[in-house]
Amino acid sequence: MDGRSAAGQRVVVVGAGFGGIAAAVELRDHGITDVVILDSAPEIGGTWYYNSYPGAACDVPSHLYSFSFAQRSDWSRLCSPQSEILEYLQGVAREFGVEECFVPDVRVSACRLDEATMTWTVESEDGRTWEADAVVLATGQLNSPAIPEVPGADTFAGPTMHSARWDHEADLRGKRVAVVGTGASAVQFVPAIAPQVGHMTVFQRSGNWFFPRKNRSYPRWLQAFFRRFPAVLRGRRFFLKGYLEFLTIMIRHPRTVGRLGRVYSTLFMRRQLPDPEVRRKAWPDYTFGCKRILFSSHYLPALGRDNVELVTERVTEVVPDGVRTGDGRHHPADVLIWGTGFRTTEFMFPMDIVGRGGRTLQEEWGAGAHAHYGITVPGFPSLFVLYGPNTNTSGGSIIVFLEAQVAYVRQALEETARRRAAALEVRRDVEEAFDRRVQAQFEGTAWTRCDSWYRDASGRIVANWPRYMEEYVRAVSRLEPTDYEFHPARR
Ligand code: NAP
Repeated sequence: MDGRSAAGQRVVVVGAGFGGIAAAVELRDHGITDVVILDSAPEIGGTWYYNSYPGAACDVPSHLYSFSFAQRSDWSRLCSPQSEILEYLQGVAREFGVEECFVPDVRVSACRLDEATMTWTVESEDGRTWEADAVVLATGQLNSPAIPEVPGADTFAGPTMHSARWDHEADLRGKRVAVVGTGASAVQFVPAIAPQVGHMTVFQRSGNWFFPRKNRSYPRWLQAFFRRFPAVLRGRRFFLKGYLEFLTIMIRHPRTVGRLGRVYSTLFMRRQLPDPEVRRKAWPDYTFGCKRILFSSHYLPALGRDNVELVTERVTEVVPDGVRTGDGRHHPADVLIWGTGFRTTEFMFPMDIVGRGGRTLQEEWGAGAHAHYGITVPGFPSLFVLYGPNTNTSGGSIIVFLEAQVAYVRQALEETARRRAAALEVRRDVEEAFDRRVQAQFEGTAWTRCDSWYRDASGRIVANWPRYMEEYVRAVSRLEPTDYEFHPARR
């Protein structure tokens, strides 16, 4: 790339969700127009394309769960439904010319670095390849559905689905439905389908702490007001950011402010769970804030319905006509739904990412995923991860993180071009020091007090950012060139 400007760089982005779209908009806006976005889906949308289960909606208010550069005044609800978010994302892609960079139906199998040229080759399962000066992995933490290895899981005779791959053809009306898992997805689809099914058995491994969320709709006059006074909309984003940062204060300080959150949640949950038996079963047994605090005013009441049973015995086996639990009980079912989340700690699974010296990202992350600000990894020049290790938020909007990350990536490409280098690579000592700082900042927080999807098998917290949203934004706002080595092209 010797002598080329940033504009001359070719960038391949993997993933066409919020992260991929943000990256393409940012790069194109700064003159880096040779951008290709690959996605396994036939449409733009990422997680919002795949997660179409009944009741799917964001659980962060839409005025913040949206791009700062593409604000909408006409969100229908506080937290918009999936269809509206998907339409928004596709609309942004159209409006900012990103659609033309999008290549659908590409299942990326590998990204390989050529050390001689310091360029990447991105390969797809069907044998196509793309050459790139830089690769942006925008596949996020929540894209590979996890189905637990329960004996007999493949023997079930009726329709089976994961929340992130909902089978809209399956008719649930009057059916006996088994739901495994009670996380953020299940608490949205359980109340949405409970009224139509014949009977529902909900298998819970851990209870959750809840905060209310009625998800009120925005009346037309309020939408018009937001349209007429954009400053109000900006003020609303500011307020929402503060509100969400308060959640992080509670999680970071479980002995003090966290107690207030626990009391508030307890009062709300007691009202929602009048039946003492259901309340006993649904109650969480871990520190408030350790797992994601769930926002729903509809899930707990659904557990009290006559046609819903909450089961807390361990699922031990799936049989053709139902599910067996540790107490030997057989729970008959016609439909089986896994609300069991994602393979979060494997990050790029199942892609092969091969960097310097033939070392794979899987090897690099063998003892736990790590990256400088969750974005750059030693040994992988000009490879950037969006929503990477330690950048998930328990109280915040991931869109705020993504926008900060793509601006950082753009700066990295500009700096590489300015120095007439072929690629940049984060210094290992810098990244390791950052990682130590991040891990130290979990000390004393609620996140350390239970097992959750934020941790890998060794117990290391690899998903979450340990501090506040604003601190992350500030930290990545200016790329520090001395954190990096700049590689010349060898030929
Ligand atoms: P999740 O929060 O990881 O929940 C998975 C559920 O499955 C948990 O209840 C888990 O129990 C249970 N589970 C896993 N393996 C099991 C097993 N072998 N037997 C029984 N139960 C098992 O997954 P999710 O609900 O799909 O949500 C994932 C993340 O996606 C959320 O934390 C959130 O960040 C995001 N999300 C956001 C929205 C939104 O914005 N609206 C909606 C949905 C999801 P344990 O708790 O015991 O592990």
